[in-house]
Amino acid sequence: MSEGIARRLASISDSATMAVTARAAALKAAGRPVIGFGAGEPDFPTPAHVVEAAQRAAADPKNHRYSPAIGLPELRVAVADKTARDSGFEVGPESVVITNGGKGAVFGAFAALLEPGDEVLLPAPYWVSYPEAAALFGGVTKVIPTAVDAGFRVTVDQLEAARTERSKVLVFVSPGNPTGAVYPPDEVAAIGAWAAAHGIWVLADEIYEHLVYGSSVFSSVAVEAPESAPRCVIVNGVAKTFAMTGWRVGWLIAPPEVAAAVGRLQSHSTSNVANVSQRAAIAALTGPFEPALAMREAFDRRRRTMHRMLGEIPGLSAMEPQGAFYAFPSVAGQLGRRIGSHRVESSIDLAAALLEEIEIAVVPGEAFGAPGHVRLSFALSDDDLVEGLTRWRRIVS
Ligand code: PMP
Repeated sequence: MSEGIARRLASISDSATMAVTARAAALKAAGRPVIGFGAGEPDFPTPAHVVEAAQRAAADPKNHRYSPAIGLPELRVAVADKTARDSGFEVGPESVVITNGGKGAVFGAFAALLEPGDEVLLPAPYWVSYPEAAALFGGVTKVIPTAVDAGFRVTVDQLEAARTERSKVLVFVSPGNPTGAVYPPDEVAAIGAWAAAHGIWVLADEIYEHLVYGSSVFSSVAVEAPESAPRCVIVNGVAKTFAMTGWRVGWLIAPPEVAAAVGRLQSHSTSNVANVSQRAAIAALTGPFEPALAMREAFDRRRRTMHRMLGEIPGLSAMEPQGAFYAFPSVAGQLGRRIGSHRVESSIDLAAALLEEIEIAVVPGEAFGAPGHVRLSFALSDDDLVEGLTRWRRIVS
């Protein structure tokens, strides 16, 4: 630990997904033909009508000034309307806080809810930022492993077995990152009912709500189990649906007093999210949805290609993703052997070997609390996807 750095930051690790992306980008910049399966973001540009709205906003002096730290009133209304339209959850704008991405919403939620020592129930595999954000606010993460043969979905029995007097928040992410699991409505309802019965808050991350495939449907815990709504904090944003990861607009939806508390925090920390980005988000949420549907169609096609090709690579076994844009195969059958000049004993070793030997970037499952797996994003071009997985098949065949 470096001298002078407080323990709360010294113990925080760098985001592993961002680290892999950075390493792949560095190799690429050095001229190597790296194919990146690491990034958790769409490869498409932001839809043109959104970019145009931002250009107009940038030219308008009213957007050159501070605005309310809790978010532009028009965007808070647009988020409330969009939530009623898309998930069926009816809320007023006073429940909405505009945040710096979905990540800002997660931080705001934990800041508002956690006392030191409070337990956060976190089904694994989980998205990397959850345990780190909880720890910053004194939360004690209780990881609940889920299995591939249960579709990587946690059950009420598992939750009940993990629950203690200190359990304060359940993190519930569907569609999920890194597994692509989607909970069916009856399971969402059962989990919400369980949380409500025990006074447990649900942090419901709905950022992949529009990215569901086949017969899977998205459902919101606040709707399936209305009794959970008074203790529900929803995390969402424009990043994944509208290819807007770099614009940094997310939001949380919470009971008004929680929303107001997060607004007060932002008034002393971030202040408002950039007005131009917020205006762009209004255009995304109120404008045509066809561009988002077209991206979803491309992701669905790539999902099916990826699942088929992973099935042809010796030593892998994968669940077909139902949502988001990730596959999360078990690589157990590729451990304990050599790949090129690398001895591979763990999924971390495997990720390093794949990057150095065949120049494909994947994220080791250790980052998600699930060693023995790797995460591959299918938000990359069809050609790169096929080329990258072909390289992997060849080197282990
Ligand atoms: N939640 C989940 C489950 C995610 O995968 C991500 C992005 N990787 C986010 C939230 C945060 O998204 P952003 O901060 O870019 O809006």
